[in-house]
Amino acid sequence: MKYDVIIIGAGPGGIFAAYELMKCRPEMKVAVFEAGHTLDKRHCPIDGDKIKTCIGCKSCSIMSGFGGAGAFSDGKYNITNDFGGTLYEYIGKKRALDLMKYVDDINMAYGGEGTKLYSTAGTRYKTICIQNDLHLLDASVRHLGTDINYIVLGNLYAELKEKIDFFFDTPVDTVAAVNGGYEVMAKGETYSCADCIVSVGRIGSKWMEKVCRDLNIPTKSNRVDIGVRVELPATVFNHLTDELYESKIVYRTKKYGDKVRTFCMNPKGAVVNENTNGIITANGHSYENPELQTENTNFALLVSKHFSEPFKDSNGYGESIARLSNMLGGGVIVQRFGDLILGRRSTPSRMEDAFITPTLQATPGDLSLVLPKRILDGIIEMIYALDKVAPGTANDDTLLYGVEVKFYNMEVEVNEQLECCYPGLYIIGDGSGITHSLSHASASGVHVARNIANR
Ligand SMILES: Cc1cc2nc3c(=O)[nH]c(=O)nc-3n(C[C@H](O)[C@H](O)[C@H](O)COP(=O)(O)OP(=O)(O)OC[C@H]3O[C@@H](n4cnc5c(N)ncnc54)[C@H](O)[C@@H]3O)c2cc1C
Repeated sequence: MKYDVIIIGAGPGGIFAAYELMKCRPEMKVAVFEAGHTLDKRHCPIDGDKIKTCIGCKSCSIMSGFGGAGAFSDGKYNITNDFGGTLYEYIGKKRALDLMKYVDDINMAYGGEGTKLYSTAGTRYKTICIQNDLHLLDASVRHLGTDINYIVLGNLYAELKEKIDFFFDTPVDTVAAVNGGYEVMAKGETYSCADCIVSVGRIGSKWMEKVCRDLNIPTKSNRVDIGVRVELPATVFNHLTDELYESKIVYRTKKYGDKVRTFCMNPKGAVVNENTNGIITANGHSYENPELQTENTNFALLVSKHFSEPFKDSNGYGESIARLSNMLGGGVIVQRFGDLILGRRSTPSRMEDAFITPTLQATPGDLSLVLPKRILDGIIEMIYALDKVAPGTANDDTLLYGVEVKFYNMEVEVNEQLECCYPGLYIIGDGSGITHSLSHASASGVHVARNIANR
């Protein structure tokens, strides 16, 4: 089978590349290969009742399938160069922002209309934070919510499938450079194309490493972010989340000078399990629909670690810590902040005694047996610092779920077209190690599609 363009992975990067090709060059023959299911068949079996923890499905519906890792995410599209990836280093700050705004326009046109765009511009919280040694980063954030995000994806798919060949439940095994084009092998069949866009996300990190090894594509190690997901009564953060929705706050610890930052804030949301290649970590999301909201707000507190010499495997380090928590807790561990400070584990009875109802069934335990001292000390310092702008954060009953790890794919060497050393082979989205968010991944897809279309 011959195509002009083959896209590997139907996450935001792949979807927006397909969308832009369909709009700019409708005559082009485009195929999308996706390891996971169609959107409507994506279903995580954890129901909190019969199935309480991750059972390691062959294809994880949270991470794989149409919509990628973004399908059941909170649908927070952060329009900023300050975090979410370093796309701007390749394509320039203005172009990166323009592309993120373009993606936002498409989301609005496909079902997101009416959702709120929050902004930190001109907010008094910037001053309040800085007076307390905390730094609030600049961003505009569109919160679609898990529910509206799902509708937008459904609408996009309805249009894309009319013009583009989708192959679901079809993981690509290999990519080979042949006769100035590419051959993609999947389920024993060979498909050829002139241009190939690889957008395999975090779940495709191991596969991406193999492709780079096989094709001798240069890469470099990336950082890993390690920490916990904090859950507390929504009222503690209401003043911030009502105005900003998501506040990205950075704090430099007094003890080590490490930076700790808040990440992925979900007002009135729920904490969830995330399964990356069999490792269970914590994450969170929230719904736009008030009926589906909870009484708690959750966010991550993360510390970045980047190893280079002689040890380079930052992800391996994060994986080992996550495996330790999985070994001790059978999955994610939860601990009351008060128990952590007193140096004792949380037990089921201490959890029942707490004035907060956890939104994720995790194993009560002791995070100090899992997280390295330096990281844990930084997180504790940050919780006390946040307590000054959001009193109640350092409450004994504040829940810490561990561990949360943000794995970043190793960075693939690409040019400003996001094309690797093989002409016509583009590596985009989180799989490239360059982006780590919905907006940056989507923008990278549009950028590459426009380059192909204009050539
Ligand atoms: C629970 C959760 C909540 C999140 N919330 C937010 C949020 O609110 N805001 C935000 O900005 N980011 C959020 N993120 C991160 C965000 O989802 C990702 O940054 C984004 O989805 C990356 O897009 P991508 O297209 O690069 O990769 P992905 O979305 O990971 O998609 C990659 C796709 O490629 C497929 N694939 C992998 N290997 C192969 C192969 N060999 N052959 C075929 N297909 C393959 C996978 O199955 C997957 O569907 C969240 C992530 C999770 C898990």
